[in-house]
Amino acid sequence: MGQVMATTTPTAVDPLSQCAKCGACTAVCPVYKVSGNEAYSARGKRHLKEVYGDDTPSPVVEDIFSKCLLCGACASVCPRHLDITDDVQQARQDFSAFYGEHGYQKFLARQALNRPYLLGAARVLGKQAARLLFDRLPIDSGLRLRLAMFAEDQPEGADKNVTLPRPARSTDATQIYYFPGCAATYLYPEISRSVVELLDTYGYRLTVPDGLACCGLAMGASGDKDAARRAARQNIRILEAGEGPILVSCGSCYAQLIEMADQFAEDDPWRLRATLVAERFVEISRFVEEIQRESETTPDKTLEGQTIFYHDPCHMRFAVSVTDEPRTLLRNAGATLLELPGGPQCCGQGGLFHVGAPELAASIRDDLMEKIVALNPDIITTNCSGCIMQLKMAAAASRSNIPVVHLATLLKTADQGA
Ligand code: SF4
Ligand code: SF4
Repeated sequence: MGQVMATTTPTAVDPLSQCAKCGACTAVCPVYKVSGNEAYSARGKRHLKEVYGDDTPSPVVEDIFSKCLLCGACASVCPRHLDITDDVQQARQDFSAFYGEHGYQKFLARQALNRPYLLGAARVLGKQAARLLFDRLPIDSGLRLRLAMFAEDQPEGADKNVTLPRPARSTDATQIYYFPGCAATYLYPEISRSVVELLDTYGYRLTVPDGLACCGLAMGASGDKDAARRAARQNIRILEAGEGPILVSCGSCYAQLIEMADQFAEDDPWRLRATLVAERFVEISRFVEEIQRESETTPDKTLEGQTIFYHDPCHMRFAVSVTDEPRTLLRNAGATLLELPGGPQCCGQGGLFHVGAPELAASIRDDLMEKIVALNPDIITTNCSGCIMQLKMAAAASRSNIPVVHLATLLKTADQGA
């Protein structure tokens, strides 16, 4: 009797889950635009994945998958709704933190994110170094640009000596939690002070609970999913002790926090706890715009005569679609808004992208800044701490003196000027 040969049926792949090679993503990818390298686009990465699957990554594959800002621009135009960001984060999980370009800096940045208080020490050192060295360094020095992120860019009238109030907990509905994020806690505490003061003008008292961890965005983006989950669990434990909204002043933290349940498996009890906490996060521009709209009062025109450029953080544009509210708040305060002729652009920060791919990040940053400078705004504002860092460096690189301030700082100054 003849032997029956075992046959394997190839797993059917849904063609609609495959890249159509249409190239729509290349038209919007900031990394492709400045590098011209097809491999760095979503189409290039999808091709690599479809051809090589999830085989052991090589330094070449690591390099290609490290060249992504996780901005989400490609997914927003993809006719097949393919989201490369999941593939990129998955691939990065297997990467060494050491090899590839700038591996050691990536390793140090990961360590700092696991211990965010180190950012506080970096801020103190950075400010001292900026005071001592900034004006002595050559205008195009790389160190000078790094120090620029510690520059004080407070608009006229801002009080720099206010301490962050920590009101006692109560059941008062006007007393709500505030999640400042690492940068506004350690690097730019003036942002959290502005947020607390701004909300105080609307009758809300904010509590910053002790022990909050990083939102986990940069950890997850660099492939350290375990660290991101650890941070999420710590935040859930602390935040589920309260009720009501949790205000977030960084758009990128907000995009990460509202999706925190996705970090846990379907049968993991943490998933439900994460879902319940995530439903309470509210982004600051949405929160304040709603207060203004419902109060039906006309805000004072304290930004009258000021030309403002509002920078859309990619996470706000593509992940959570919050683009109108910040503009409404600025217009309500009387500001004249300036827009880029070709529409909003990425600043090149991208979590740890600016650390792992500094040359590409600088090209994306400088391309944006050249266009902003051409508009000649009085002030640049945004609501993402990472973008603020990058835009401060962009302003220094372009030799412009345009101040870069968080939206809450600008609105608080406007409110206090009334
Ligand atoms: S997420 Fe952004 S940087 Fe990454 S491939 Fe898509 S468009 Fe390019
Ligand atoms: S837009 Fe989507 S389908 Fe088109 S090339 Fe890019 S990844 Fe492929």
